[in-house]
Amino acid sequence: MKEAKYIWMDGKLTPWKDATTHVLSHTLHYGNAAFEGIRAYMTKKGLAIFRLHEHTQRLLNSCKILLIDCPYSKDELEKAQIDLLKTNREDYKGNVYIRPIVYLGYGVMGVYHKDAPVKVAIAAWEWGTYLGEGALENGIKVKTSSYVRNSAKTNLNKAKAAANYLNSQMAKYEAINSGFDEALLLDDTGFIAEGSGECFCIVRDGKLITPPYDTALESITHNTVLNIARDLGIEIEQRRITRDEVYIADEAFFTGTAAEITPICEYDFRPVGSGKRGEVTKRLQGEFFKIIDGENKKYSHYLTYID
Ligand code: PMP
Repeated sequence: MKEAKYIWMDGKLTPWKDATTHVLSHTLHYGNAAFEGIRAYMTKKGLAIFRLHEHTQRLLNSCKILLIDCPYSKDELEKAQIDLLKTNREDYKGNVYIRPIVYLGYGVMGVYHKDAPVKVAIAAWEWGTYLGEGALENGIKVKTSSYVRNSAKTNLNKAKAAANYLNSQMAKYEAINSGFDEALLLDDTGFIAEGSGECFCIVRDGKLITPPYDTALESITHNTVLNIARDLGIEIEQRRITRDEVYIADEAFFTGTAAEITPICEYDFRPVGSGKRGEVTKRLQGEFFKIIDGENKKYSHYLTYID
């Protein structure tokens, strides 16, 4: 992990090594925290945060769902992220990943959480590709997970909640240790939900098909991809997908802040389409990279420049 000078903690820029919390912090024991993953891209005009407003709004939405009273407003949280990047500016040579977290600190124990103090931290460090070198071009190998995605009957999947990631973590471990790059999780009725940290799309006969957000996070990257697809005149269908439909799809890919648009070249031991990155996926990636490089005027409002 590439450390930077400071981490923003409860309103103060704190030296990286001092940004610690008590072992009896409530979140550490019971898993209730809202967090975000945001990228800042090194563009020709300098470092720019991608879709800062949407990510910060989702963070506050997660807090509302999780019954956590965030002590900072949206404006304050956005300013904190910008200030942090400005302060650490010299530590960033490439793209940056921003991780704000609203969590429950030290003071009370027991499951009832409302008396625990609410703490906020924002860290930002330089981070490259998530699914490995070459993944964006060559694609990755994916396996249906033996873990079922958190059910809407028990989990609050619209929240980017720390606790939801136990399911993701187990699925990811299983996938990696079985020789795959990523897991694809089905929902509790057997339809495709999402990856351990990505939403999922297929392409069939030139049409982009993607599951509804019933048991998937409302991915901001996915929203960007759907906007691009509309612009390119690609037909979109948001409906349930079975695993065998993926076996006969022409293309498949993941979307996510960390994964960006990652092609899936193999699924459950079967090549997806030609087994190589597909044409539609390539076009979507091309347009996506123009947006994050600040080269698409229509979406210039997606970028918040730091300097
Ligand atoms: N699903 C899950 C479970 C995730 O963790 C993520 C990453 N935040 C996504 C989907 C993709 O969401 P986004 O594009 O907003 O990063």
